[in-house]
Amino acid sequence: MLTTVRDIRYPWMHMEQLYDPSAVELKWQKAWAKAKLFEVDFKKAKNPFYSLVMFPYPSGDKLHVGHWYQYGPCDTYARYIRMKGHDVFSPMGFDAFGLPAENFAIKTGTPPAESTDKNVKTMIKQLSRIGTMYDWKKTLNTSEPDYYRWTQWLFLQMHKNELAYKKEANVNWCPSCQTVLANEQVKDGMCERCGTEVIQKALTQWFWKITQYAERLLDNLDDLDWPEKTKLMQRNWIGRSEGAEIHFAIDAGKEQMTVFTTRPDTLFGVTYVVLAPEHPLVQKITPKSHLGAVDAYKEEVKKKTEMQRTDLSKTKTGVATGAYALHPVTKEKLPIWIADYVLMHYGTGCVMAVPGHDERDFAFAKTFDLPVVEVVSGGDVDEAAFGGKGTAVNSQFLDGLPTQEAKKKMIAWLEDADKGREVINYRLRDWLVSRQRYWGAPIPIVYDPDGKAHPIPEKHLPWLLPTDAEFKPTGKSPLTYSKEFIARTEELFGKGWRPEFDTMDTFVCSSFYYLRYLAEGGKKHLVDPHVEKTWMPVDMYVGGPEHATMHLIYARFVMMSLKNFGFVSEEEPFKKLVHQGLITNKGAKMSKSKGNVVSPDAFVERHGSDVFRMYLMFMGPFTDGGDWSDTGIKGIDRFVQRLWRTLPSKADAKHKDDKVVLAALHKAIKAVTEGVEKFHFNTAISGMMELLNELEKHDAISATTASTFALLLGPIAPHLSDELWSTLGGKGFVMEQKWPSYDPALLVSDTLTIAVQINGKVRGDVQVSASASKEEIIEAAKGNENVKKYLEGAVIKKEIYVHGKLVSFVI
Ligand SMILES: [Zn+2]
Repeated sequence: MLTTVRDIRYPWMHMEQLYDPSAVELKWQKAWAKAKLFEVDFKKAKNPFYSLVMFPYPSGDKLHVGHWYQYGPCDTYARYIRMKGHDVFSPMGFDAFGLPAENFAIKTGTPPAESTDKNVKTMIKQLSRIGTMYDWKKTLNTSEPDYYRWTQWLFLQMHKNELAYKKEANVNWCPSCQTVLANEQVKDGMCERCGTEVIQKALTQWFWKITQYAERLLDNLDDLDWPEKTKLMQRNWIGRSEGAEIHFAIDAGKEQMTVFTTRPDTLFGVTYVVLAPEHPLVQKITPKSHLGAVDAYKEEVKKKTEMQRTDLSKTKTGVATGAYALHPVTKEKLPIWIADYVLMHYGTGCVMAVPGHDERDFAFAKTFDLPVVEVVSGGDVDEAAFGGKGTAVNSQFLDGLPTQEAKKKMIAWLEDADKGREVINYRLRDWLVSRQRYWGAPIPIVYDPDGKAHPIPEKHLPWLLPTDAEFKPTGKSPLTYSKEFIARTEELFGKGWRPEFDTMDTFVCSSFYYLRYLAEGGKKHLVDPHVEKTWMPVDMYVGGPEHATMHLIYARFVMMSLKNFGFVSEEEPFKKLVHQGLITNKGAKMSKSKGNVVSPDAFVERHGSDVFRMYLMFMGPFTDGGDWSDTGIKGIDRFVQRLWRTLPSKADAKHKDDKVVLAALHKAIKAVTEGVEKFHFNTAISGMMELLNELEKHDAISATTASTFALLLGPIAPHLSDELWSTLGGKGFVMEQKWPSYDPALLVSDTLTIAVQINGKVRGDVQVSASASKEEIIEAAKGNENVKKYLEGAVIKKEIYVHGKLVSFVI
């Protein structure tokens, strides 16, 4: 008997015909958990596949649509791989140390440990609602002592292997976050976190020697299945350049300055040399007569940011020191200038100026009326600098040589005369890992009363983050305020000993988390070597492209180091990488300040998580992103309701499908398989929609076709899929079934063989579906390999289709 209760969304439908996502989804989530469906046994797995998505910062904001867009489709891929017969490990955890959590704590006045704990719980609840196949038993939280003891252990390994060192340097300082930043965290001169302009500050800091791996970081890129754009960004960031170091003697005195240049072939074009104003040589070589002007200029430069200094369009400034350098070949006297466009930490802090062939040197020479000499032909150096390649001129023994040969000859001369050598330079700088913030892993270093640094013995790890520190930023490391921290250090090491008060950059925490998931919280190793060997590298890694020159380069460096230290077998952590696109709202980027951020919760409550996930995937190819629309989601909802009405009611065990239904089914299997594999989930969903359109035309369909449809839904709408599967009499869970395969012979219901003629001669034939349109058939004809050869470069004057028989081209 039909009830009369109606749903407001579908007033024409009876309740029992309606699919009720909220009840169904919770039911299956419970069933999956109870069956431990997604728990992986690392040691027993036969066909391992590690599917990883970048873990979130628990900041107090709930999961937004951007998180869903990353996690939902990524889970779909993982589920598909599982149905293809792999043991899929898909973990989720929390990147809990660092500024987002700390800033939230400061804003709300709660200690970060408390607020982080609360936020993590909220996020787990929301994440569970997606219905992902996360193995929650292996979750992690980087702010817990069990985790950060390994962050500290990593520091100790780096220290032991001379990859961690402390030095005073001009470092990036964010006045708003009150902390130093790594070069990677400065975007266009601004703080990557808060957008404040970054200033330079001389501080003693801990660095990790990532530069030691520059060459390998670069070389390995060729073999990674990563987006080309990301690889290019890393290549540019590492910035390898081949060139020469050239020594210039200072006139009068024993000092010399060394420059690096990628164009040693232009040495004869040098008309002056420039030192960075901070260069220690400046003080030594400047005669008294010029000291006043030099010191005044240095003061002026201190007020400028690096970005202001290197801005190409700005007017060049500088002052002459009154000292001279000697040209290494001609012994000519070259004036030495200081100018802010030369940076102390870039290259050697001094440059040989070749105004004829370098844009900035040209602008500087024009401003200060310095000579410009052409030494490479091909441009017009009266008008502008010519930076290209050409033939050496005005260059003594180099004259007439093409640039490449001129470079070689110049380097050979310099090496012979002991005035320089060939060098390979990298733009990459060492990674600054210390931070003057509270919410991070304390650096496991203590200082004796003489100020000498000593690593803390491993047995004292985790070296706990004190709880009695001032967590609000004061510009001083918050840990200096902790009495307990100092007392603990003195008790363990002796009177007058002090702990390192800085904490570690949160990117250290995330540089090895993929290994700790595999450790299941184990205290013996960073990761069990056998498990690491079986499961690493990560087979599929999904995350935002904004990490290209931060997390994605740090993680590679750390994995390489660990391989060198003998703790892991692999050198690269992520075999394949995919970046999700951006979800916009009516064409605009979502942001809190614009108030247009889509919160998933209300939509999930109304339509269910399957519909929400499917709608996100239907917007466009995953890597392109898409534009959100409140009405668009209703279309997917209707599709789900139609499916629910159609499959169970039409499925008939005795029915045999005709060729048309079989063709539609196999076409859909092909579309879903290929769509999911390429992360083109939108085409996968379209494929299923087409299949449903066909099935709706028939009074009955075979039980096999209905069940196969349910399996196809497995990765894309996992709850609906299990509900349909079990309603149709399927045993076990969908995730335990084999992914359906398609039969190419069944793809077309009825095939026609169409001959293809070119200028009256038959050049091939094509198989097409009987239902194909004229346009489709002509396209197919053009796609024939042999026909292609004839059509290449030719102009088609006429296209004739004789129905069911032939296509004829006149060219
Ligand atoms: Zn900042």
